[in-house]
Amino acid sequence: MLEVLRVPVLSDNYVWLAHDAASGETAVIDPAVAAPVLAAADARGWKITQILNTHWHPDHVGGNAEIVAATGALVTGPRQEADRIPHIGRTVGEGDSVQIGAHRARVIDVPAHTAGHIAYAFEDDAVLFPGDTLFAMGCGRLFEGTAGQMHEALGKLMALPARTQVFCAHEYTQSNARFAVTVEPDNTALQARAAEVDRLRAAGQPTVPFTLADEAATNPFVRAGSVEELAARRTAKDNFRG
Ligand code: ZN
Ligand code: FE
Repeated sequence: MLEVLRVPVLSDNYVWLAHDAASGETAVIDPAVAAPVLAAADARGWKITQILNTHWHPDHVGGNAEIVAATGALVTGPRQEADRIPHIGRTVGEGDSVQIGAHRARVIDVPAHTAGHIAYAFEDDAVLFPGDTLFAMGCGRLFEGTAGQMHEALGKLMALPARTQVFCAHEYTQSNARFAVTVEPDNTALQARAAEVDRLRAAGQPTVPFTLADEAATNPFVRAGSVEELAARRTAKDNFRG
């Protein structure tokens, strides 16, 4: 079993520790910072052996240097962003695989938020790390790519089994839900999820992970019927003040 531990950092980032007890390997996904991640691993008695980066943004790689210095971890990241990822030791792209012990992830190219963004899909474990590409009821901003690329990227992620658990990199859910209900005011599954999210956040609870089934029912970007519709929704969300 692949054990996944949340480390909340900065204002709304989630760094994930993925641990395989059989091999003793532990990977950090997108360490924004180092100290709380090292402390969380220490508290569990876990030794960090790898860093898996999804894209170059500082809130995803900011902890690389200090974690490598402390642990000697091997850094894996997207080939197309290698020059912007500190201490990268292995570059990967579509179809490559990475392993944590015997747990294997397929690398999926999902350019759009950044030009070389990748996701890690542990298919046998039904665990997905999409970085800043897919959020609960949302998707990443289009900093370096197009709506067409995001449409394709979301399609690739949604092709994974519906039960897949999604460990995205930000707690953006409540803001996403407020926007989503304006797009699909008659979607009862969305209304129910938005209410549940409000309840969780009021109680100080996280809303991540969630499943791809949740997204199929409620995410207005996943549910966009065309590239044009996704583009219009992305622009509207960028300007939304809920
Ligand atoms: Zn980002
Ligand atoms: Fe981010």
